[in-house]
Amino acid sequence: MSKTDLIVIGAGPGGYRAAEYAAKQGLKVVVFEGEEVGGTCLNVGCIPTKVYVHSASFDEARERKSQVVMQLRSGVESILAHPNITLVRGKAAFVDAQTVNNYTADHIIIATGSETKWLPVKGLDDPRVVDSTGLLNLETCPKRLAIIGAGVIGMEFASVFNRFGTEVTVIEYLKECLPALDSDIAKRLRKTLEKQGVTFKMKTAVEQIADIDADVILMATGRKPRTAGLNLESIGVRLAANGSIPVDSDFRITNLSSLAACYAIGDVNGKQMLAHAAEMQAVHVVNQIVGISDGIRFDIMPAAIFTTPEAACVGPTEDQLKERGIGYECRKAFHRANGKALTMNEPEGMLKLFCEPDGGRILGCHAFGAHSSDLIQEVSVLMCRDTTVKQLRDMVHVHPSLSEILLSAAE
Ligand SMILES: Cc1cc2nc3c(=O)[nH]c(=O)nc-3n(C[C@H](O)[C@H](O)[C@H](O)COP(=O)(O)OP(=O)(O)OC[C@H]3O[C@@H](n4cnc5c(N)ncnc54)[C@H](O)[C@@H]3O)c2cc1C
Repeated sequence: MSKTDLIVIGAGPGGYRAAEYAAKQGLKVVVFEGEEVGGTCLNVGCIPTKVYVHSASFDEARERKSQVVMQLRSGVESILAHPNITLVRGKAAFVDAQTVNNYTADHIIIATGSETKWLPVKGLDDPRVVDSTGLLNLETCPKRLAIIGAGVIGMEFASVFNRFGTEVTVIEYLKECLPALDSDIAKRLRKTLEKQGVTFKMKTAVEQIADIDADVILMATGRKPRTAGLNLESIGVRLAANGSIPVDSDFRITNLSSLAACYAIGDVNGKQMLAHAAEMQAVHVVNQIVGISDGIRFDIMPAAIFTTPEAACVGPTEDQLKERGIGYECRKAFHRANGKALTMNEPEGMLKLFCEPDGGRILGCHAFGAHSSDLIQEVSVLMCRDTTVKQLRDMVHVHPSLSEILLSAAE
């Protein structure tokens, strides 16, 4: 049995960031990875999908995808070649709360990510049915694509394949797409994609795959935490109803049968299934291990949807503000009134900025339109500093720039 300071299970954004940062802090780290380093995000998630978003054709996307993934993967491999890090290629399982395979450590971080959640409908064995990974592996562009689920993954692929010339139909059980996005913004984005040619069947439940008329059917009904094979039962962990590992606000596992310091970060804890959330959770856990205090605001988590045009958000939706009885003002601005957006020929877009009454503290922002993710990032930074709309009005913004849309909303 070998002893180390920290064991990390999984080398996705959560795991490799934890290993990299811990190694720089002087900890000896052992990282287990059962597949390719880089995890879902780099190999079959954020990165390949964004190559598709930024490619003009299906063939170009396929060609560039492998190059970009290989380049970034070798970057992660070089991060993990740090002298304080040992990368063990293979599946990890707990022996006890301080032992994983044949290594023991005082601290263990589980960062095993998530996998596709398959909707339990009849006919899943139909060869036309794929998940996001299967869709990215297609060698020919489908003529007709049906997408079950209008969440982030479903909407991004709908936009991409529509641009590639595929006939796309999105089937969604709820009345609106993208439930985490303000419903006003979500509706406008859906209408924009509809104008571009995507067909939406809202409030429609899929009963069996045989009813769907398409060449390829994408199952995009969410992701679930990946814990199979970790032998979590041996350390007393009981999974939550959604399959996630329960953690406290510092990502320490709450129901271990011992006092060992075990943490779960990233998609596996089911809190915020985003790559940047996994990375910041990694930093926060390592900070606790080495005794550094930080001010990371996990309540302020920006998110983006890379459709064309993009959508993005930070903070609550207008409906959530109402439900929670929070007093607010909503300020709107439109891409079509912004000089830069017009020069870019990107007039479609709208931003909703929420703040406390009388131009008070910024509470959130939801937007769609070109470069919404960059606009939202600015709001996110302002929120981390409890900025008010009155203060935002006094901040100079470059002209002509899309960021003036935010300033217009503030004014
Ligand atoms: C199609 C798609 C598009 C996405 N786009 C975005 C986006 O644009 N922006 C964004 O923020 N997020 C996006 N996401 C989500 C993002 O990929 C995840 O939030 C992120 O990868 C989570 O990181 P993680 O480290 O928790 O887990 P993962 O990236 O899933 O990594 C977990 C790693 O653990 C390994 N592992 C699992 N079990 C074991 C074991 N027992 N032993 C050893 N190794 C193990 C796995 O092989 C994997 O490499 C997307 C996801 C998908 C599917």
